[in-house]
Amino acid sequence: MKNISFISFSPFTSDLELTAQLVDCYREVFADSPWNEWLKCPVCQEYWGLKDRSFLASIRFCHCGQSLVDFWSRTEVISDLYHEITPESSCWLALDNQTVVGFCWGYSILANILEDKLGITFCDNLNIPRDNLIAYQDEIGVLAPYRKRHIARAMFFKRQEDFFEQRLRFCIVRTRRSPEPSATFLWYTQKLGYEILAAYPEEDGRVILGLDLLKQPLAICSSL
Ligand SMILES: [Zn+2]
Repeated sequence: MKNISFISFSPFTSDLELTAQLVDCYREVFADSPWNEWLKCPVCQEYWGLKDRSFLASIRFCHCGQSLVDFWSRTEVISDLYHEITPESSCWLALDNQTVVGFCWGYSILANILEDKLGITFCDNLNIPRDNLIAYQDEIGVLAPYRKRHIARAMFFKRQEDFFEQRLRFCIVRTRRSPEPSATFLWYTQKLGYEILAAYPEEDGRVILGLDLLKQPLAICSSL
């Protein structure tokens, strides 16, 4: 990880240049595979990723008679940043020299409120008391040219350490199992011992994974 450094970030206190870069980094990560959330049709909501650039040029960036729009507008992303990266949350950025190339954040939240937010019940499978604060691992992403260099893993463990300091016992993450399991799904389940607590309807493909740190203390070991 030559030249890569990590910095704890808050939109309320950090350099605004970092905030501006994070907005762009976030949009670029999700515009790329496997998410492909770059441009969408405002009429039928179909969407495409950066890999579809030539096709989109062939249809002149129009669909259903309308110009395509950003899947994630800057306005929406920055509003999410201020909403989700509160002073109590844990957010880490990966920098290549002064450029943001990855991000990772999460926050503590009451279990019952997280169930409402995610629109699914999951507490019963891990016997999580619904009035407990739990750790929600919200977002993690690295720009394509920087992947497979353990940058996401390094940020994950920094976030995890912040959760330990807050004495949170249960960790929750939402990821994709089908049609193809995401890299994060495989990593959480195979390397860290997370179990599937709940699944969205079949065609959705997303699942809720959870870990009880009292039962899986190895998950705190960054040498995994
Ligand atoms: Zn359309």
